[in-house]
Parts: sequence; structure tokens; C-alpha cells
Amino acid sequence: MSTVLPLAEPVRRPRPDTARAADGERLATRLRHQVGRAIADFGMIEEGDKVMVCLSGGKDSYTLLDILLQLQKKAPVKFELVAVNLDQKQPDFPEHVLPAYLESIGVAYKILEQDTYSVVTRVVPEGKTMCSLCSRLRRGALYSYAAEQGFTKIALGHHRDDLVATFFLNLFFHAKLSGMPPKLLSDDGKHVVIRPLAYVREDDIVDYAAIKDFPIIPCNLCGSQENLQRKQVKRMMDAWERETPGRIETISRALGDIRPSQLSDATLFDFLGLGKAGAAPVVDAPVWLDEASVETNDTQVNDAQVG
Ligand code: SF4
Repeated sequence: MSTVLPLAEPVRRPRPDTARAADGERLATRLRHQVGRAIADFGMIEEGDKVMVCLSGGKDSYTLLDILLQLQKKAPVKFELVAVNLDQKQPDFPEHVLPAYLESIGVAYKILEQDTYSVVTRVVPEGKTMCSLCSRLRRGALYSYAAEQGFTKIALGHHRDDLVATFFLNLFFHAKLSGMPPKLLSDDGKHVVIRPLAYVREDDIVDYAAIKDFPIIPCNLCGSQENLQRKQVKRMMDAWERETPGRIETISRALGDIRPSQLSDATLFDFLGLGKAGAAPVVDAPVWLDEASVETNDTQVNDAQVG
């Protein structure tokens, strides 16, 4: 009789450096491809652009800068890249980390300083999330610098999952179909903001940042937490992706394939004119409403009389 030997436990060995480097190169190729495609699809960068890359010290903005620098070498157009960080004077912000990194890779950079931390902690009640005001103040400082220096584009590190999460936040909590576009004009009409990571998965960025060993600076040195709604949406998206891998990618693709005639916004599609046969003008909603309310009142009177 043969003896059945127990299966040996798989031995986990750390991946050798060569395998890690190969993983890194494969991933970098994918990221360059996705970023290049987003740049082309949305006309994000053109000849002579002066691009300000906003660098927070998080994994997303490091990845953005790294991939843009790689693309710049082979791009069909010439453009300038400058990394800009805003030191918001959060407690324990390690001031030396970004300059040391940026000098090590030889990129032009600027560190701005503005104590938005004191403003935010003074204005926002204790226990409330400070991120919304903090981001607004950060945006203001960065945009002012961009205008002063003549940057033609401002690049932000939001990725595919951020775009999908923002869409659901607007849907669930603001009752509108709206998201975070890959390219937009700032509210004051002065800046073109681009999001070259619009097609990039957050998981890929996490892996890439680990492989590249970026010196990450956490955003929450200020002690603030993500707001509850954003957390809720994130949990929902994670659960969907676990149960149905690929769902977030499907949603992301849907954001670029919108059919106004299959939704209900009469400002985007001419529902009034659709199938209209006669030349008579369309009757306005208030007229319909008045008619309807007269009828309702009459019905109520009649019902009362019968009772
Ligand atoms: S975690 Fe802190 S630093 Fe980061 S956005 Fe929120 S308030 Fe600003």
C-alpha cells in the first residue's frame, strides 16, 4: 500500500531583486501606456506647455511625476515639468523629504509655504473633518502660484478610483450625475487642470510606489480623517471589486460612454422636440401644473359633496 505523504507547506521566499525589477518595469510600461492614452484622449498636454505637477508627498503624486518624467523623454511634443509642493505647516511635516527626493531625480521644483493648518484648525469645529477646507485653501495657494509663474497646465494625481468614488459621492449625497473630469477649466476660468492618472487603478499605484520606494509623507499629519461619506463609498467599491472583480473598471469605462437620450435631463437631450408632430408650441410645465391642480381641486370638491 502506498503511503500518502502530507503536502509540504509552500515556502515563501522574498522575490529576488531581478524579479522585482522586472515587475517594476512591466508595471511602469502599463502606467506609461495608460497615462499616455489619457493625455491623448483628452488633449492634456501640447507643444510648449509648462506643466505644474502638484506634489503632496503621497503615492499618487509621486507616481504622477515619475510617469510624466518618463513620458517626457519620448513624447511627440516638448513640454516643461515643474514639481510644486505646498508646505501647509502641519505638525511634524518632514520638510527635508521632498527637496531631497526631487534633487536626487534632478527635476525642477518649488516648495511653497503657507500656514493653512492654523486656519483650518481654527475654523473647523473639533471632531469635524478638515479636508474640504484644507483642500480649498491648498488649491487657492497652488493656483495663485501657477498664475504668477505662467503655468499653462496644472497636473493633479487623482486616479481612476478617485474619479469613480467622486461620481458615487455626487450620486448618493448630491443627487446629480457628475464626477471628477480628467481635464477641466478652474472655476475662475484661468487654469486648465489635468488628471493624467485618470485611467490608472489605485492598486497599481500602491504597487508602483512600493516598488519605487517613494518617500511617502502621510496626508493626515494634521489628525484629520476622511469624511464618513467618502469612507462609505470606498467600502462599497472595495466590496464590489472583491465580489465582482473588474466592476470598477466597467464603471470607469461607463463614465466615458454617456447616452443623454437614455437618461432624463432635458437640457442635454431634446425630449420636447422628440416625436413632436405638429407646429404648435409646446405647452409649458406651469400650464400643465395649473390644469392638473384645477382638476385635483374639482375632484376633491366632488368627493366631499358625495361624502
Ligand atoms: S488629511 Fe489633513 S492635510 Fe490631508 S487634506 Fe485632510 S485636512 Fe488636509
